[in-house]
Amino acid sequence: MASRATKFIFVTGGVVSSIGKGLTSACIGALLESRGLKVTAIKLDPYINVDPGTMSPFQHGEVFVTDDGAETDLDLGHYERFIDTRMTKRNNFTTGQVYETVIANERRGDYLGGTVQVIPHITDEIKRRIFLAAQGVDICLVEIGGTVGDIESLPFLEAIRQMRAEVGPENSLYIHVTLVPYISAAAEFKTKPTQHSVKELTGFGIVPSIIVLRSEQPLDQKLKKKISLFCSVREDCVVNAYDVSSIYELPLALHREGLDQRIVELLNIWTGAPNLAPWERIMNSLKAPSHGSVTIAMVGKYVDLTESYKSLTEALHHAGFANDAKVNIAYVDSEEIERSGVEAAISKATNNQGIDAILIPGGFGARGSEGKISAAQYARVNNIPFFGICLGLQMATIEFARNVAGIANATSSEFDPNSKAAVIDLMEHQRGVDRKGGSMRLGAYPCLLTKGTLTSKIYAAKEISERHRHRFEFNNNFREQLTQAGLTVSGSSPDNHLVEIIELPNHPWFIGVQFHPEFKSTPRASHPLFRSFIAAALDHRKARLNSSAKKPPKNNKTNKTAQLATQF
Ligand code: GLN
Repeated sequence: MASRATKFIFVTGGVVSSIGKGLTSACIGALLESRGLKVTAIKLDPYINVDPGTMSPFQHGEVFVTDDGAETDLDLGHYERFIDTRMTKRNNFTTGQVYETVIANERRGDYLGGTVQVIPHITDEIKRRIFLAAQGVDICLVEIGGTVGDIESLPFLEAIRQMRAEVGPENSLYIHVTLVPYISAAAEFKTKPTQHSVKELTGFGIVPSIIVLRSEQPLDQKLKKKISLFCSVREDCVVNAYDVSSIYELPLALHREGLDQRIVELLNIWTGAPNLAPWERIMNSLKAPSHGSVTIAMVGKYVDLTESYKSLTEALHHAGFANDAKVNIAYVDSEEIERSGVEAAISKATNNQGIDAILIPGGFGARGSEGKISAAQYARVNNIPFFGICLGLQMATIEFARNVAGIANATSSEFDPNSKAAVIDLMEHQRGVDRKGGSMRLGAYPCLLTKGTLTSKIYAAKEISERHRHRFEFNNNFREQLTQAGLTVSGSSPDNHLVEIIELPNHPWFIGVQFHPEFKSTPRASHPLFRSFIAAALDHRKARLNSSAKKPPKNNKTNKTAQLATQF
């Protein structure tokens, strides 16, 4: 059982999906933490997959990896970015996991003589998992995935309904997040979907005490009053979360609406005034970055699916806050590079504005890999800051092997399992793995940094811990040949068996990491590698603008390639 003092806030969503329930929950957590409370958050996912690890980015967006190696919903990334408590495998569970446990119990004979049913067996298991994750905190936020009315989420709603009676009304609070659409033909915001959604929720025995209304523009008091009346919610508990320019503005926006004050009143908690200074600092840097902006080319195959790189794009923005600069991300399609070359693909993605650094994120499969390898080469040859993450390190290693170390057909055994020149190879413990789910090298592992390298200077540490999600690695059979040719291994596992970080010494900033540093970056504490990468991009931008300012004005006859060359 959770400690007696733990209070539960259950967050449900209505009307449509993707209205930012996860972000709202994370911001509530941030506000309560800013009042000195210890907070955690759990995401309950109604789908039947055991975890999102086997889903494609088209289905699910990013898979967020925790220190303890769970592959989880991207909302856990929001939680970690907004609250201090680190997430574990207990903070996210799915219908699949719940049934897996209940069925295993049944096979063991735990329910001998009984019929196993949704109520109470499935709901008991849901509650057991919620209490387990809530241990030792003042407030546990419980976000129910999906939208009220979905068949899949019914057992979750039933479980949280039961919990109110178990923990007591003074220890539980229901918050319902809905959408108030604007109908331009009528020039009106519409409250009816919210009314219906609250009615449906009430039908399950859950009466929300607070309604958070998502809208594109601020809503007026009249509308809040109407919703209050129809939904039996106090008028000051109808809160508006309208679109803001940055997600990091949201804690302040919700505070202005009085949300945290209402929550502590309703839960009967005494706290001091919130300390919102860190969020205000972030807002100031967002509104007027004193060092201007940089543009990072992110080269990948799912470039139109920005949700699949959520932690990464956020880590870049955090590094922007730390450098007091705005970070623009230009998504460059690696297959477009294969079709028309690096410069043309970058020009297309940036509208000819040019870029200040190149980043290759994690990824899977051969599609688009040649384009990524070309991008790594382009960064190396032109002294453009380069950051390769997981697959990005692997692409940079292949490029270096081919074009510097003279291993002409270098590749990864992910793309060609029979290659003799697999400078990237399957990890030893991955051989013979035939169950796809949860079987990668996952979670936090220690890494020793090589003295005197740029990486060790950036981290200012000897040993670090970072999160992983991969099956392939730098092939040690080529380690000598590649380091002889000038590649530096700047971080490895403590037994020196796994290459974790590479860098190029004769380059302003060229680093590849086998792990995912983006999972540990937060807006209040940006990750040192990203911070340094953005600083290098700012330097590159200065040099780039200086050199183009010195160049004589272009005449009309300048050919296209020369024009493009001046942009980098
Ligand atoms: N596909 C590569 C591997 O499995 C890289 C994975 C990643 O980028 N997360 O090793």
